[in-house]
Amino acid sequence: MSVSRRVRFYLAGIAAFAGLCIAAPVQAGTVALTFDDLPVFGPYKTAAEGQEVTTKLLAGIKRNHWRAIGFVNEIQLDARDREARIALLRQWLDAGLDLGNHSYSHLSLTHTPVEAYIADVAKGETVTKQLLAERGRKESWYRYPYLETGPTLAIRHTFESWLATHGYRTAPVTMENSDWEFAEPYSDALAHGDTAKATHIRQAYLDFTAHIVPWYQLAARQLLGREPAFVFLLHASRLNADSIDQLAAIFKKARLKSVTLAQAMKDPAYKIADNYAGPDGDEWLTRWSLTLHKDLPYGSLPTVPADIAAYDAKLEAAPAGK
Ligand SMILES: [Zn+2]
Repeated sequence: MSVSRRVRFYLAGIAAFAGLCIAAPVQAGTVALTFDDLPVFGPYKTAAEGQEVTTKLLAGIKRNHWRAIGFVNEIQLDARDREARIALLRQWLDAGLDLGNHSYSHLSLTHTPVEAYIADVAKGETVTKQLLAERGRKESWYRYPYLETGPTLAIRHTFESWLATHGYRTAPVTMENSDWEFAEPYSDALAHGDTAKATHIRQAYLDFTAHIVPWYQLAARQLLGREPAFVFLLHASRLNADSIDQLAAIFKKARLKSVTLAQAMKDPAYKIADNYAGPDGDEWLTRWSLTLHKDLPYGSLPTVPADIAAYDAKLEAAPAGK
């Protein structure tokens, strides 16, 4: 090898090494935290009971410097202590957080005629829109209950054009931890004074979250070649109120920093077409995998422990519902 060729070889080696360094940095990602079913997910009889969850949840969000948005089901306000329940929503805005529409009564777009669905969503903005207007702000985000966006393309388009003309953007979901499935068993165990069971459920929830967060990161890298700004679906539950610091530690380990939903949505990934029409309520990585004709690593997807899934199913079958 001539000197000049050796030099070129050497320089190419340095360039390749530098390229490796650039290709594999320890880079921080971002996540927008979203909480559904406000004021409070799960059973509560009075605003005072709900207050406990709201206050603890908001204190945890503040302590961990999270930016968050809560999605409201205004049906929960329709009780004798309506004003006190509205005050729970004011607490979110007073904490510097945002609120969005999650329909009035948490309807399924798969199982509801679109005209009735639209009427329900319009009814669902009565109070929230007013609370935001009092602060000079607009209600601008919609989260589909069950993530069901419509069984046919015609229904999708009808509802999406209603959303657009009423100033809403869809809040997608690209990361979630099935928190709803753990939340009611947790509350039920506490209500029965079974703290050992509640502790077991909460630990299982945190273990599950610690496994599923990296799974979503891996799935995104496999699908997009990188991690997008994630949008995480959580619920305004007692379980999350009691788990914020541990959840924050999981996000920190996953190098995910909290950003607003609007910031996350600037990621160009959210421009990938989602043309899914059908009964399922899938998150958006699954929707993009259909568009891009690439599979997600479902083989390694963590599953909710069977005892907890069975406990939740038993509670769901009971008359109280969620
Ligand atoms: Zn919901």
